[in-house]
Parts: sequence; C-alpha cells; structure tokens
Amino acid sequence: MSYKLPESYASCELLPFNRTALETDFELQTPSQDPGVSGYWLLLQGTRLLLLNDSAELPHDRFPAELGDPQQGIYIGCWKNEPCRLLGISLKTELPPQVRSINILDKEPGLSLSLLSLAGLGNAVLHWEKTSRFCDNCAGSMVRISGEWGKGCSACEALHYPRIHPCIIVLVRRDNQLLLVRQPSWPAGRYSLVAGFVEFGENLEQTVARELYEETGIRVTNIRYQGSQSWPFPSQLMTGFTADYSSGELNIQKEELEAGDWFTIDNLPELPPKRSIARWLIDMAVAPAGKPVE
Ligand SMILES: [Zn+2]
Repeated sequence: MSYKLPESYASCELLPFNRTALETDFELQTPSQDPGVSGYWLLLQGTRLLLLNDSAELPHDRFPAELGDPQQGIYIGCWKNEPCRLLGISLKTELPPQVRSINILDKEPGLSLSLLSLAGLGNAVLHWEKTSRFCDNCAGSMVRISGEWGKGCSACEALHYPRIHPCIIVLVRRDNQLLLVRQPSWPAGRYSLVAGFVEFGENLEQTVARELYEETGIRVTNIRYQGSQSWPFPSQLMTGFTADYSSGELNIQKEELEAGDWFTIDNLPELPPKRSIARWLIDMAVAPAGKPVE
C-alpha cells in the first residue's frame, strides 16, 4: 500500500516532521527506557528509509542480517505501541534483495504522514549520535544521561544536549507579487523562499531583515511570525514569517542563489512540495482564507 501525503495542512503545526504529525503513532522516549523485548526497526541509510519488499510497515522482529549489527540499534520510543529501535546503515552497504529503500526527501515518498515524520526524527537522532561521541570541551568520550537524550563527558563532566538550529524562512509580498528565489541545487525550475540561519545576537525578526537584504537587496516592513516546522535534515527549526516589501531593487546574491524574482500570484513557477513550511506560507498567501489553491 502506498500513501499520499495531505494536499493541504490547516495549521503549520500539522506539517510533517512536527511532533503533532507523529503523536498518534509514536511516543518519543530515551535509550535507557528500552524494555528489552522485540519490536519495530527504523532503518535509515542516509535519508533513505529501508523497508521490506512485502510490507509498507516498518520491519518487525525480522532484521535482515546483511544490514548490520542489531545490537547497535538505539531505542527511541514506542511505534504503534511496540518498542522501536533506530539503526543507521552505512551508505556502502549493499541492500539485500528483500529490502527496498525510499528517499524521505522525495516529493511523494509513498509513506504515511507519521512514518515519514518518524523517519525524519530518526535522521535527526542519528545526526546527534554521530556528532556527540566526543566532548566538545576536551574530546573525552561521552556517556548517555539516563532518561534523557543528552550526554555527559566522562573526563570533564560537561553536559551536552541535542542541538537544534533556528532558521528563518520568509514570504515577502509586494501587491499581488511574491518574492521567490532559487538555489542551484534545487530541481530545475523550482523556486522557493529566502531562508537562513540565526546569527549571534539576533532575534528572529532581525534575521529575517538581514537575510532578505543580504540575499536580495530588499528591505521589508511588517514582519510577522506565522508558525514553525521541525526540519530534521539534520537539525533545523524553521520559523516561518511573512513580510511586506518596503524598499530596494532586486540584487540577487550570486554566492548562494542562482536566481530570484517577483512572481504574480496567478503565475507562480514550480514550488516546493506541500510538506514544507515554505509551501505552506506560499499557499496561505495565495489563498488567505485557509483554503490553499491546488
Ligand atoms: Zn569533556
């Protein structure tokens, strides 16, 4: 069975990768809470979720031996009321014939909203596991803090917790036009919104103003927060804003962007998938009554 993701999201909170998208099927716990009985396997190879050919559900009990050592699996919580363990599979591992892989960043990965969101969460957890083996202070080895996702240094006792990086993403309006940009790495023809990481000393609105000016030469006013989305590739929190054009001529910063322009709302280019807050902001702007256009 192949799933289709929703065509629209009434609220930003309902977007994939946010906890709400998971909550009926999954309860996040911590590795020390592993009950020690068999359960589901969340197997990730890069951003690809591995499933058995004969099932749309996570592998249960059956662990393909060719994939690695199940002892390395990390307990992350309960999926559909059973233990769920996460294992990162090396990109070099050749998949056995009974296993298929699905890129969770595909526009339509064919996964349920909750399974897609779980796979995203797994990606963020694996990133934390990979980057938290040694202490930032002294390079000592790290040990888990019982009942938490944080870790403590066995040498200097510093405590470290998963790092989530705040980013802004902003939709700018000028009359019936939207400011859209494109990065060279995106699929041909696709445009989206200006986005960027928060820097030292900035509040979110200041990041919005700075990123827009740096990347497009545009000044804005009336910066308004609209909602946010967890973006676990690997560890961003996207905070979404709208703003109104104030002044400036388009001057696209060519180091980061390939192109940028004003598009009238009835003639928009190819847009990002509906699972992203970028698209949610655009859809809301185009159909502010809360009924996004198709
Ligand atoms: Zn240390």
